[in-house]
Amino acid sequence: MTEREYDIAVVGGGPAGLTAALYAGRALKRTLLLEAGLPGGELLNTEAIEDYPGFASITGPELASKMAEHALSFGAELVSARVSSVVPLPDGRQRIEVEEEEPYYAKAVIVTAGGQPRKLEVPGEQEYAGRGVSYCAVCDGAFFRGEHLAVVGGGDAAIEEAAFLTRYASKVTVIHRREEFRAQHLLVERARQNPKIEFLLDSVVEAITGDESRVTSLRLRNVRDGERSELAVGGVFIFVGFIPNTQLVAGHVDHDPQGYYLTDANMRTSIPGIFAAGDVRAQLTRQVTTAVGDGTTAAIAATKYVEEELAQPEMAAVGAG
Ligand code: NAP
Repeated sequence: MTEREYDIAVVGGGPAGLTAALYAGRALKRTLLLEAGLPGGELLNTEAIEDYPGFASITGPELASKMAEHALSFGAELVSARVSSVVPLPDGRQRIEVEEEEPYYAKAVIVTAGGQPRKLEVPGEQEYAGRGVSYCAVCDGAFFRGEHLAVVGGGDAAIEEAAFLTRYASKVTVIHRREEFRAQHLLVERARQNPKIEFLLDSVVEAITGDESRVTSLRLRNVRDGERSELAVGGVFIFVGFIPNTQLVAGHVDHDPQGYYLTDANMRTSIPGIFAAGDVRAQLTRQVTTAVGDGTTAAIAATKYVEEELAQPEMAAVGAG
């Protein structure tokens, strides 16, 4: 095995990737963990986590650093690089192409690349990005002390982040296009009890407007009666979902209509030797706990693949089917 050849390469260092690296390293496989930024993934954009067993409450960055330290303690090598492509080779190996470096090779790849925040795609969003338009409350909330903020969306992220923003904002208006929420009932009820949060339902943002330096207001439309209104805000935080990073693998990988990879129960994708775990994978929910479970299964399945199936190519060719 050359210096750039590994048994298992893990693409993405969020909770799924860190757990996969931990298990693969602990199984004594030569393991590479590729992450473009700091390890932690979405944990780094999350203030408090209170649904990870064993920790009644822990900050996202703290959990991320504990997970990274733990993963690396079993021998996985962390390389800071942005993966541009994973190319399945005819000999059964995978070539992992990274920006500005020679490629790496692995017998199996576990894709745990997470995703990107979905854009609202309204006028002003791009223009005011970083000047009042944000996709990360933990990163940017503190810049808006004493301001009236808007949060767009009705999922877990929107409701949790609205609550987080109340520590800085004078008021947070949650703008959601329906009356029902996708977010967990408990989170919505808690937000309803928060005196700094108000809800504007059945409403959509038509445009984000501002002066030459920053956002000053939103143009809204009520979807029931079509009535238009203006809301003066100092900033708008957009949490309207997530687009999985599933463009990395060269060639077709079976996916659902939203682009999430379809896997079998062992996290195998439709390409032999490529596994997927965490937020890139189609599943009921996307929690730290499910990412960690996926990462565990993927690493154990990838280890078996490397040790048993690659040695018998006719089995490896079966894949997820
Ligand atoms: P999500 O659950 O997909 O919710 C997206 C929200 O944005 C929905 O309310 C959706 O409205 C709305 N939306 C989508 N496109 C829109 C548009 N163009 N204009 C206006 N509104 C739009 O996304 P998420 O909240 O980012 O969560 C992603 C995943 O991470 C979920 O699986 C979630 O459970 C998980 N997560 C969990 C936690 C936690 O458990 N603590 C925290 C954060 C995220 P509709 O409802 O009308 O479709």
